[in-house]
Amino acid sequence: MIKINENYLKLQASYLFSEIRRRTDEFQEANADKDIIKLGIGDVTRPLPKACIEAFHRAVDEMANDDTFRGYGPEQGYEFLREKIAKADFQDHGAEISADEIFVSDGAKCDTGNIQEIFSSDTRIAIPDPVYPVYLDTNVMAGRTGSFGDGRFDGITYLESTRENRFIPDLPGENVDLIYLCFPNNPTGTTITRSQLQNWVNFAKENQALILYDAAYESFIQNTELPKSIFEIDGAREVAIEFRSFSKTAGFTGTRCAYTVVPKSCMAYAGNGEAHSVHNLWFRRQSTKFNAVSYPVQRAAEAVYSEEGRAQAQALIDYYLKNAKLIRTEMEALGYECVGGENSPYIWIDGKTDSWQFFDLLLEKAGVVCTPGAGFGKCGEGYIRISAFNNYENVEKAMARIRKALSG
Ligand code: PLP
Repeated sequence: MIKINENYLKLQASYLFSEIRRRTDEFQEANADKDIIKLGIGDVTRPLPKACIEAFHRAVDEMANDDTFRGYGPEQGYEFLREKIAKADFQDHGAEISADEIFVSDGAKCDTGNIQEIFSSDTRIAIPDPVYPVYLDTNVMAGRTGSFGDGRFDGITYLESTRENRFIPDLPGENVDLIYLCFPNNPTGTTITRSQLQNWVNFAKENQALILYDAAYESFIQNTELPKSIFEIDGAREVAIEFRSFSKTAGFTGTRCAYTVVPKSCMAYAGNGEAHSVHNLWFRRQSTKFNAVSYPVQRAAEAVYSEEGRAQAQALIDYYLKNAKLIRTEMEALGYECVGGENSPYIWIDGKTDSWQFFDLLLEKAGVVCTPGAGFGKCGEGYIRISAFNNYENVEKAMARIRKALSG
């Protein structure tokens, strides 16, 4: 008899976005004439930078020609892309990362989800609350948690982000082995300072733990005092892995390209205490289960590092940040406490009421869809997340409607 992985039965239904869709559809059916503005989901709306599209086209043409056709590429990604990443995203920021420490992939979602496979099944995990759900669910699937009750899984150390700690979790009071951090944060939009990140790196070193640092929103960081990479922090090369993505940096959510940085000096341990290279394990995993990103997509990603590509990608970020500023300014003017939106596309708003009630209020009174914070974890209760990914005209319209609904 074929048996299932029963850990899947512990997973909580992917309630958040399906429930948002259900409520939105129901409202739309009852109000067919209402135009609903969606500021919920974190998907980009602007087209790819022109430089990327041109490189993409050129590479597709190469695939049509005997002399330039390419078959399977290197599992870690083409060197032309990894060299550019290493220089522009790390070395130019004082982070000592080389091209052969970079693994190009088709998404930070897959990488943040797959990475846990290379660690022992009794690894003690620390996960933020609220959180991007992939970190938690993939560990549930792998059997690293107990059962679910009162909004929490047994066996997980939750790193609470609350108003009291300004949405930067405190160091855990218990022993943990694998720590997930995400900055700029999804969903709270907060950023971490160098000294706060240094505390995490020191903690990981003292505890022979490893930090999984999700920097998918790094390109939104405008404040030059803030670290863009964990590898700008002393000692991080021994205790951290970083995830990056072209999804939000350059509009690649539908095109798919990302990368993971695993320094060669990063170690994890066998049961007998012997140190092993995490880089070697991840290389083994990727070369067994993954066959690289398509050549034209890697050429399109490479174009992000050209002079025009950089300027065009920066223009996309500036565009969304302008939306974010408007959202935050308007919500604060209405008397709501907000974080995020300055170095991040997300604004985390204390709704002063139940998350879903506030969601319903914005939908019914303003025709605007946001994301209820409770869907990201227990600490998200009472908050909503508004995303800056939309056209400026829509954001202006949405905020005018919210102003009218909430002040009227
Ligand atoms: N990490 C975080 C924190 C995200 O919010 C997202 C997407 O929303 C991802 C990773 C996924 O990125 P990708 O499109 O590269 O899979």
